[in-house]
Amino acid sequence: MRKSILVTGGAGFLGSHLCERLLSEGNEVICVDNFYTGSKNNIAHLMNNPYFELIRHDVNFPLYVEAEQIYNLACPASPVHYQLDPVQTVKTSVHGAINLLGLAKRTKARILQASTSEVYGDPEVHPQPESYCGLVNPIGIRSCYDEGKRCAETLFFDYHRQHGVDIRVARIFNTYGPRMHPDDGRVVSNFIVQSLQGCDITIYGDGSQTRSFCYVDDLVDGLVRLMNSEDTVGPINLGNCGEFTMIELAEAVIRLTGSNSTLSMCPLPMDDPKQRRPDITLAKEILSWEPTVSLEEGLIKTIEYFETLVKRKERIPEE
Ligand code: NAD
Ligand code: UDP
Ligand code: UDP
Repeated sequence: MRKSILVTGGAGFLGSHLCERLLSEGNEVICVDNFYTGSKNNIAHLMNNPYFELIRHDVNFPLYVEAEQIYNLACPASPVHYQLDPVQTVKTSVHGAINLLGLAKRTKARILQASTSEVYGDPEVHPQPESYCGLVNPIGIRSCYDEGKRCAETLFFDYHRQHGVDIRVARIFNTYGPRMHPDDGRVVSNFIVQSLQGCDITIYGDGSQTRSFCYVDDLVDGLVRLMNSEDTVGPINLGNCGEFTMIELAEAVIRLTGSNSTLSMCPLPMDDPKQRRPDITLAKEILSWEPTVSLEEGLIKTIEYFETLVKRKERIPEE
């Protein structure tokens, strides 16, 4: 059955893969984006599809379209970008959620929120289950994103309880893959671009902090399963359980690119979480979902993509 599906943030990294997947299943997709961090290049290959429609729109403003399902992904996701205009970041999460929930209420659409592992902050519980309430600084430089996303979750659950809106909430852990922007600022794209260009690899802090990296196709599959599940509203963690230090990630990227880049230690940004790994017991049980792409396989595919964008340079050895 063809569905009419609205994807906000559809011209971004995750959103463009999601639009592609939904179209491939025969749905009609309305992509809404203000191109703050997304790009028309990410969706150029979809523009001739008669079932794809692009609307340039900022979700801070009301939006009147008809849809049966809504995926709300609009929000800058890289710390560099979300800290550039923190007030806009909070507004996008909060006003964006209100407007899209209002739309879902009016159209009786099911609406999924792209929440984040950042709701756990700098976690004292490891790995993080959905029941953990998190340790988040409300006034730091990451708060615009973390607290904005936490407030969006609150709005989703209040619209659900108060107005009966049919919600789904996914807590997405670090995800990477083709179509990340080369200047995105997140660690995987930074390390790959630096390796391909023979530049120093910028390790923030001592590089002992950990993250768990999920390949984009696995993540998109989790989002679609959650949206179509009748068994949970969430919140549900979606992420890969492999946990790596930033030093380990840098070493893997250097090996897979065959680069001769070296590591350069830089200051650790404020409130940078020390460890992060999802507990995905619920996703396995309820959605029969778990990631299938290893870090090495995923990095190889991502490196192939960046090689088409970035001119490879060898580092010139110092005398
Ligand atoms: P991205 O920056 O590539 O995509 C975000 C998209 O939202 C962009 O196309 C941007 O232009 C658009 N956007 C931003 N503000 C908007 C606004 N006010 N109105 C309309 N469009 C707007 O980031 P991404 O990695 O694709 O992340 C997508 C979503 O998933 C975000 O909500 C993010 O918080 C969430 N998420 C991503 C990750 C990850 O690791 N990639 C992890 C956790 C959560
Ligand atoms: N809204 C929207 N599209 C719709 C319906 C509502 O953008 O199709 C916005 C509307 O501008 C409102 C918000 O969503 O500010 C919240 O809607 P709700 O019905 O909860 O609020 P109300 O209209 O009662 O203030
Ligand atoms: N990081 C790093 N070098 C970079 C970019 C990021 O060492 O060039 C570190 C960053 O400090 C953090 C981790 O990599 O500890 C993941 O950062 P990212 O911005 O990708 O995501 P997030 O911090 O939101 O998990």
